[in-house]
Amino acid sequence: MFIAGQPVTNAHPKPVELPYDGSEVGIIYQATKEEVEAAVGAAAAALPAMREMTLDERSSLLRRAYQKLLERREEMALAVSSETGKPIKEARLEVDRAAITLLFSAEEAHRLHGEVVPMDASPAGKGRMAMTVREPVGVVAAITPFNFPLNLAMHKIGPALAGGNAVVHKPASATPISAVLMAGIFKDCGLPRGALNVITGPGGSVGDALVFDKRVAMITFTGSVDVGLRIRNLAGMKRVTLELGSNSAVIIEEDADLEEAAARCVAGSFAHSGQVCISVQRVFAHRKIRNELVERMVEGARKLAIGHPHDSATDISSLITVGEAERVEHWIGEAVASGAKLLTGGQRRRATVEPAILTDVPPNVSLSCREAFGPVVGINAYDSLDEAIARVNDSEYGLQAGIYTRDIQKAFRAARQVHVGGFLINEVPQYRVDQMPYGGVKLSGTGREGPKYAIEEMTEPKLICWKV
Ligand code: NAP
Repeated sequence: MFIAGQPVTNAHPKPVELPYDGSEVGIIYQATKEEVEAAVGAAAAALPAMREMTLDERSSLLRRAYQKLLERREEMALAVSSETGKPIKEARLEVDRAAITLLFSAEEAHRLHGEVVPMDASPAGKGRMAMTVREPVGVVAAITPFNFPLNLAMHKIGPALAGGNAVVHKPASATPISAVLMAGIFKDCGLPRGALNVITGPGGSVGDALVFDKRVAMITFTGSVDVGLRIRNLAGMKRVTLELGSNSAVIIEEDADLEEAAARCVAGSFAHSGQVCISVQRVFAHRKIRNELVERMVEGARKLAIGHPHDSATDISSLITVGEAERVEHWIGEAVASGAKLLTGGQRRRATVEPAILTDVPPNVSLSCREAFGPVVGINAYDSLDEAIARVNDSEYGLQAGIYTRDIQKAFRAARQVHVGGFLINEVPQYRVDQMPYGGVKLSGTGREGPKYAIEEMTEPKLICWKV
């Protein structure tokens, strides 16, 4: 752990395992209640120092962290690959993206401003002027999931520090290593003592202690719907941002560039073995081109190299646990038993599942209506765009969706009618650059990330009014 600028261990160690083969890659220490309190106390004590830092000082600090992270790219990529089991080439990309997230956060620190309020637009405002200034909310508890342990943490820590807050970060128990290394990087860059603390341990106990601590002003959470809802229900007056799951869909129209669409759907369904909140899970293909799309996708999926995550040639490695892999296997079996056809993949070896493509997946099975979070995609045929839009919208989730078509009218009709946080035209929903507003509707969450948007959620506009 990392509390008040110091690495901390205790008498409750637990091994961190490489999900691919269960070998030990590190040790986690499970925080006691007292340690959670100490971390929040350290963050609260750091607030005056954070508030005193000028915007330029905060920006420079984040820029130094960006540079240091890139200097340690290979070490950090290996840590991310080891704790998540994701292929090393994807881990390197994650480190690059985490660095960019810090750079955008540094830039947003320079742009943090309020506005002039037109007071005399009301009769009672005559002779008054006013402005808003953006003030930090205070102690931010950042709770992050296992699938992008570094970049998703930077999406919270970068904007929080840019906004003048102090942070207590609780990474997923499976993936704590990069979080602690990153706290060391921030310390080396001159971050005030206690402004970033990392506490590790089970979400149930550590998470609850954070949610109930009165000194925590905001909880920014990325993870599953169940935990997100629990936090929201318990958080009381705390500000809460929730980035949750989805079962993302893409529409492939009959006039689409099928070569491009198929290649992107394969990448969008199987990157990080589908353990991406915007992974392509449901493909709706126009009946006229469905067979060709299916053939191309099956061909693409069969070319993916399955192997050890540290091997640079590997495209597909394991899921986070054997239990998760078994669940995905079970869901595929459930879909097949209900009439779906399994065209390729689906075989499990320990925690690794071969990329699976199914067709004719009934709407009521888990693979259609829940979040698969595994290397599996269902392709179903439709006859009209209205039908396709209705099927995309037939979901409890609404993070991102997409369409492939050359017809601009159809593209924008779908963009307006699909109920999601982000809509991609001629791109799969599993697409994100780190500065864009990112977040969902329905069960996919509330609030937006992307440094410009997160910093708004992590600061309060304070009104200052004066009589002239
Ligand atoms: P998770 O089980 O919900 O865990 C997320 C974090 O919450 C972990 O740090 C976990 O700690 C902690 N936690 C668990 N119980 C808690 C509690 N009662 N109170 C407070 N914190 C608690 O999610 P996951 O399996 O790690 O991640 C997968 C999920 O994240 C998927 O649903 C995916 O869609 C979603 N996700 C969403 C986005 C997005 O931006 N929308 C991005 C990535 C992932 P422990 O590990 O110790 O249990």
